[in-house]
Amino acid sequence: MHFETIAIHDGQAPDPQTGSVTVPVYQTSTFERDNLDHRKEFFYSRIGNPTRKALESTLALLENGRHGLAFASGVAATLAALQVLKTGDHIVAGNDIYGGSYRIFEQLMRPWGVSTTYTEDESLESYAACIRPETRMIWLETPSNPLLQLTDIAALAGFARDRGILLAVDNTFSSPYFQKPLDLGADIVVHSTTKYLGGHSDVIGGAVITTDDQLHTKIKNYQGAAGAIPAPWDCWLVLRGLKTLKVRMKEHEANALHLARFLERHPAVERVHYPGLPSHPQHELAKKQMSGFGGMLTFAMKGGLPEVEKLVSKLRLFILADSLGGVESLVASPAKMTLGALSKEERMKRNCTDNLVRLSIGLENPEDLEADLLQALRD
Ligand SMILES: *Cc1c(COP(=O)(O)O)cnc(C)c1O
Repeated sequence: MHFETIAIHDGQAPDPQTGSVTVPVYQTSTFERDNLDHRKEFFYSRIGNPTRKALESTLALLENGRHGLAFASGVAATLAALQVLKTGDHIVAGNDIYGGSYRIFEQLMRPWGVSTTYTEDESLESYAACIRPETRMIWLETPSNPLLQLTDIAALAGFARDRGILLAVDNTFSSPYFQKPLDLGADIVVHSTTKYLGGHSDVIGGAVITTDDQLHTKIKNYQGAAGAIPAPWDCWLVLRGLKTLKVRMKEHEANALHLARFLERHPAVERVHYPGLPSHPQHELAKKQMSGFGGMLTFAMKGGLPEVEKLVSKLRLFILADSLGGVESLVASPAKMTLGALSKEERMKRNCTDNLVRLSIGLENPEDLEADLLQALRD
């Protein structure tokens, strides 16, 4: 079955009781037992809920995984995936990862005795240089945030497997429509469903997808015990988003490519980072491991923070806001917003300069978006 057919049908058969074509929102905390000795499949919604189950099985199928687990946010999913580790274990993470993941590694994991080393860049050599005897996990984001640099997932997965190290991939930026890390050898995929999977900037959620039964059991037990589960209504919103994921991703990409080409020609722009441009240093790798280049692009302006400030204040369609992946276009300053919690020194180590502008390209008409950028870039 094809991606969009799975997104619409699998795990979401019409309700057997009423024939309802959409999965009902099972807004209930608990379920009646048969008797003292027997309970039904569902008995308490923290442990399991039918609306959540529909979302979890659809997510697993879309990533070509066997098991999906839904969480209350992307960071809750990240923390859950890290529960397969124990005190004394070591993580190697990309230097260009989501700021919230960095916060989890440093503020939540390190005090519990799980330390993280960050790579110098996105190359395999850089990952290899950080490995220690106690390394148990590699944490990868590709394309990375905010510079949209790529790492060869299949090569890193092979490297990790040879050493008994797990490879976890945060696939939020690409969505499973454009990239399937499990097919390339990753062990765990993590999502912020807040972004493309939900797709409408109206819900916070996360997911962990695996093929390995043991990893799944550990993370599922943690999900039930720690309880960072999404509400049935939030599960339903993400399920609804998934049904249009393919058509949205194709449009996000077409619009992003249009604007990346426009920005590349603009004299006020120093450099455009978008994997779909032939000028991107890893364009060939992008073509190999992704089936499309996504809707995120970052560009460096000539100048610095004052130029960025002027731009964002003049933009009318692009909304100045955190987050990404929704139908509306957003603009952000990585230095002031997404990575604003880091010291200047830490930001510079990740090449996150003040003149960067990150765009989440929405589903508006590309000519309207171009006109908005054009007027805002004018002196
Ligand atoms: C937003 C985001 C997260 C965190 O997700 P929340 O839903 O905000 O908790 C993790 N990884 C990436 C790449 C993200 O963009």
